[in-house]
Formats: sequence, structure tokens, C-alpha cells
Amino acid sequence: MSNNQLKDNITNVLERVRRKSQKRQFGNSDILVLAVSKTRPAEDVAAAHVCGLSDFGENYLQEALPKITALQALPLVWHYIGPIQSNKTRAIAENFSWVHTVDREKIARRLSEQRPPHLPPLQVCLQVNISNEASKSGIALPELPDLARAVAGLPHLQLRGLMCIPAPEPAGADQRAPFRKMRENLDELRKHYPQMDTLSMGMSADMDAAIDEGATIIRIGTAIFGPRLTGAAARADH
Ligand SMILES: *Cc1c(COP(=O)(O)O)cnc(C)c1O
Repeated sequence: MSNNQLKDNITNVLERVRRKSQKRQFGNSDILVLAVSKTRPAEDVAAAHVCGLSDFGENYLQEALPKITALQALPLVWHYIGPIQSNKTRAIAENFSWVHTVDREKIARRLSEQRPPHLPPLQVCLQVNISNEASKSGIALPELPDLARAVAGLPHLQLRGLMCIPAPEPAGADQRAPFRKMRENLDELRKHYPQMDTLSMGMSADMDAAIDEGATIIRIGTAIFGPRLTGAAARADH
């Protein structure tokens, strides 16, 4: 994609977010657009940064680490948004500012132990399996309070909120239902953990519904970078 096209896409997304956020009932007008740069080369990330974005999300460690290294001169904030295997926690703890996909206490403990002490605490969202899909990652809602308690007690993590990837629905009321449930669960947890101020929800196809229900971070890939690239980078560590 040309840099002009990228610039147009980013302008359009930011404008759409700005317009919607001013009218919404839940949440304030601060919404972070997290640009999901999986399968995209470092040059695309640098170009998106020139257009005003500074937060980038990556799903695959093997693919992310060379990009983070190549771009370390830029003031970027990296968010890990992929599945976490135990043997990957050290590299995640060392290279990212945020992790959105914590769904087990064991993983949280490792991330806290392995977070380098000279860095600020790792900012953590708990991934919730909000549509209750058998094959999906994320913690089930009934187990969420226990996981929140465990993560809140870990010294090198800061519990920031909840994240979800609902089952796909066409645009409309059905898209809002799982996001509403997320908001209600966050409100409940905030009574005990007022530091939980983040709802990471909404992607290119359902960002409007997520914003209406109070999203504070939307994770946008294709609406910014166009259709995902396939090939070596995309296959790196599936
Ligand atoms: C790929 C991905 C996104 C972005 O999806 P788009 O539909 O391209 O906007 C957001 N969140 C997660 C966890 C992803 O894996």
C-alpha cells in the first residue's frame, strides 16, 4: 500500500473515532487507536508513526522482535496481543509495554518475575472469552475475579483492564451485546481495583459497537494497513 493510502486510512479511522467518541454514552472521549501491525514490515510501522500513531500491536513474537529492534530509535509503545506460551513470557516481559492477552495465573506470575526491574511495570489486560467459545483463549467469566485478584497482587505487573475478541457478528445490536457484558464486568471489578481503567475491544469490523459500549483501546489492523499480507513474515511462528 502507498504511504498516501496509509495516511488516508489513518485519517479516516481517527476521524471516525473522534466523531463517535463525542456522542457516546459510556466512557469518555479518550480512545487509543492501537495499530495492529502483524504481517506488516517495519517500514509500514514507521510510516504509520509519521501519520500520528505511536501504539502498535503484535501477535507473533518471532515477527515482532526484529521490528521492535529495527524501530527502537522511535518513541513507540508496543502491545502484545497474541496467545502466550510459557516459553515466550521472558521475551514478552522484556520487549513490550503492554500485554492484552493474559488469561492464566501461571503466565501472569512468569511475566511479573521476568519483567526487568529497570522497566516500569508491565501494563496488563485480562483476556475474557466473552462469547464462551470452546476453542478460544481467554478466561471464562466466572473465573475472572480470582484471576484479577492474583494479577493485582503481582509486583511487576499493573492490572489495567479487560480485553476480548467476540465471535464475529454482522454490524448491529448483536455486536454490542458482548461489549456491554465486558463493560459491566469491568465496572464490577473496579469496585475492588480502581486502577482498572481499560477496555481493549473492537477491531476493524466492530469498532463502532465497541466504542458505543465504552472501549478505551480499539485494535485496528485492516482498516489502517489494508488486507493482511501473507508469506514468510505472516507464517513466522504459527
Ligand atoms: C489481527 C487482530 C486485530 C486487528 O484485526 P482487524 O480486523 O484487522 O482490525 C485486533 N486484535 C487482535 C487480537 C488481532 O489478532
